[in-house]
Amino acid sequence: MKIYVVGFGPGDMAQISPQAVEAIKKSDVIVGYDCYISLIYDLIKDKIIFSSGMRKEVDRGLKAVEYALMGKTVSVISSGDAGVYGMAGLVYELSAEYNQIEIEVVPGITAALSAAAVLGAPIGHDFAVISLSDFLTDREVIKKRIICASEADFVICLYNPSSRSRPHHLEKACEYMLKYKSADTVCGYVKNIARLGQSYKICTLSQLKDEKADMFTTIIVGNSQTKIINSKMVTPRGYKIL
Ligand code: SAH
Repeated sequence: MKIYVVGFGPGDMAQISPQAVEAIKKSDVIVGYDCYISLIYDLIKDKIIFSSGMRKEVDRGLKAVEYALMGKTVSVISSGDAGVYGMAGLVYELSAEYNQIEIEVVPGITAALSAAAVLGAPIGHDFAVISLSDFLTDREVIKKRIICASEADFVICLYNPSSRSRPHHLEKACEYMLKYKSADTVCGYVKNIARLGQSYKICTLSQLKDEKADMFTTIIVGNSQTKIINSKMVTPRGYKIL
């Protein structure tokens, strides 16, 4: 009776860990969001697959628990890391009363890390990760976190920057950051990391305000020391270079 909660990285098979592949291979059932299932379909095509759409996370979690209670080995899959805005916490919550179910979380490369690698070395110092989605988090809380992280001069990684239902969230977030970060702060964003159509751009914070992000974009806003070296975004750790 086991549930693996598996992060498979940003999407490319080259960035999935051997431990994640092993967990998926050992599983009878794979539970995941439709779009994720198609990304790793080759790996799971001979398994029982339960997939559903966005915002059906609780249904998927319950299904995983149901299959585990039937004695099946289940992998609940998330892109990136399953514990970062993923299913890991929910699976623990939903199986709280079934201590016969063993849960193992298998880590994956989260979007902040894969985006950082594309942009250069932007998170070489303290960074904060903030989701702009107000689906499960109050807007005031999001605003406060953005402002406090900016005031403390954190590099800020933004997940869920925008969607059709909230097209102006990135613009608003930039306005909050501009209260404490200078307009020429170096920023970068990556779309479709490790997937078809991967692209990135490096710009200033004032330019970022007018950029169009979508659900498959991860944004990194630098701190006051972040600079551009050979067209890449770099946040120095502070080493003295002679
Ligand atoms: N568990 C995932 C995050 C899920 S939240 C992880 O650890 O990466 C979804 C958000 O993650 C997206 O809106 C986007 O901001 C980011 N993201 C996930 N995969 C991405 C990819 N391949 N390219 C760009 N951004 C991605």
